Amino acid sequence: MNRETGNLIADLVLYGRNELGLGTEDAVYASNQLLELLEAEPADRAGKVAPLNETLNGLISHALEKEIIDEGDELRFETKLMGLVTPSAGLVVRNYFDELRKGGAKSATDYLYRISVNNKYIRMEDISRNIRWYADGPKGTIGITINLSKPEKDNKQVAAERNAAQVKYPKCMLCLENIGFCGTATHPARQTLRIVPLELDGEDWHMQYSPYMYYDEHIIVFSDEHRPMAVTGGTFRRLLDFVDMYPHYFLGSNADLPIVGGSILSHDHYQGGKKVLPMFLAKDREVCYEKDGVKVTLKDWYNSVVSVSGTDKKAVAARCEKILAVWRNYSDESVGVLSHTGDVPHNTVTPIATKTGEVYRIDMILRNNRTDEAHPDGIFHPTADMHNIKKEGIGIIEAMGLFILPGRLKKEISAAIKLLGQEKIDFASLNDDPVLAKHLGMIASIAASGLSLTAKDAQKKIIDYVNATCLKILDCTAVFKSDEKGRAAFAKFVNAISD
Ligand SMILES: [Zn+2]
Repeated sequence: MNRETGNLIADLVLYGRNELGLGTEDAVYASNQLLELLEAEPADRAGKVAPLNETLNGLISHALEKEIIDEGDELRFETKLMGLVTPSAGLVVRNYFDELRKGGAKSATDYLYRISVNNKYIRMEDISRNIRWYADGPKGTIGITINLSKPEKDNKQVAAERNAAQVKYPKCMLCLENIGFCGTATHPARQTLRIVPLELDGEDWHMQYSPYMYYDEHIIVFSDEHRPMAVTGGTFRRLLDFVDMYPHYFLGSNADLPIVGGSILSHDHYQGGKKVLPMFLAKDREVCYEKDGVKVTLKDWYNSVVSVSGTDKKAVAARCEKILAVWRNYSDESVGVLSHTGDVPHNTVTPIATKTGEVYRIDMILRNNRTDEAHPDGIFHPTADMHNIKKEGIGIIEAMGLFILPGRLKKEISAAIKLLGQEKIDFASLNDDPVLAKHLGMIASIAASGLSLTAKDAQKKIIDYVNATCLKILDCTAVFKSDEKGRAAFAKFVNAISD
């Protein structure tokens, strides 16, 4: 048995050599670490090429049997194993910069991406379970993903999290201290995390791939300092510095206010990757003006986007900073845009930078997070009748037309399909249904045109409903709606940013 474990270790180390570029000395070193960790005898044969998951499952079973780990620790342990056969954090940085010098930016990011996939930091088998489709809308196609890659937590896990000691190290999921972190009940293990340094506008930042990969080559760029998200003039300069170095990627920042921002406001960070998000296909609908070598345009997109472009990086950043300064204090009661309530600010932007040829461009999605009595969740936010589809804040990815919907929807849609197949629905009892109560509005609207639907028809009607809701959510985020009043208000704002 122990010998067999030694053989599995040999297979894992061979995988490290073949797929992760583990060198001769590091391979021997890793073998010895693994033998100690797994209390195993050295192999009696050379490593063989075997499916990685079979090797890992064998090693995890052994660790459970020997009580090296407890039940529930499997994923953390797997991460530890993969971390041991991945080149060290420092060596990956060196290899990355070698690649950058020899092959250029794309070749360097390809290297980091390959390592992150091959060492299972990005768990492709989980991500491939996501359900994805596209929906056509009046201002372009949007993408919709039901996110099944984050497994639902079971009660045992929830209890473990509640009982976990509240030691806050690393301070958050984006802190530098995550590299090599062993993980806790509430914080994922990060022995497989590999990152590379960047200098952005004179500051020290790092780049990594997102383990969730909501779109192709989804990257996260984060400040070395744990400091709150803030969209400032520095943000525009940093985004442009990045796309200057990596023009095959875009980079954008979430807004720096709740409701309109992302899920992490405590650590300054950006998101980027391949330019595959739906908004990139939208065209400019209007040129506002050209000044100081920069062009200011409006994008033909669902929400309100002001774009600044030009070949002079500094001039583009400076114009964005100027527009932001105006927007921060801009109010137009005719469309419900109020910049402040007392001292509390509501206006911010979601900026996205790209470089095409010699042209730098920043798309600024104007955002406002004000709430009032009629809209306790946000005036420019989906209303309660859409929360069955999406309740969370509408961050940069959704605002750009890619919806990441909760995994619970898969089960809920199946239940709704079954229900719509019936001849009659008892709506009163649905109120108490733990799965379907939240979808009452959707079910009633579909049932209004008839019941006894085949599974195929019911599914189509539900998907149509989800698509329409996502398009409606995007419209909700527009501070200037695309009706006459909204367009007039938008024109007034353009006037205010024209000097
Ligand atoms: Zn942090």
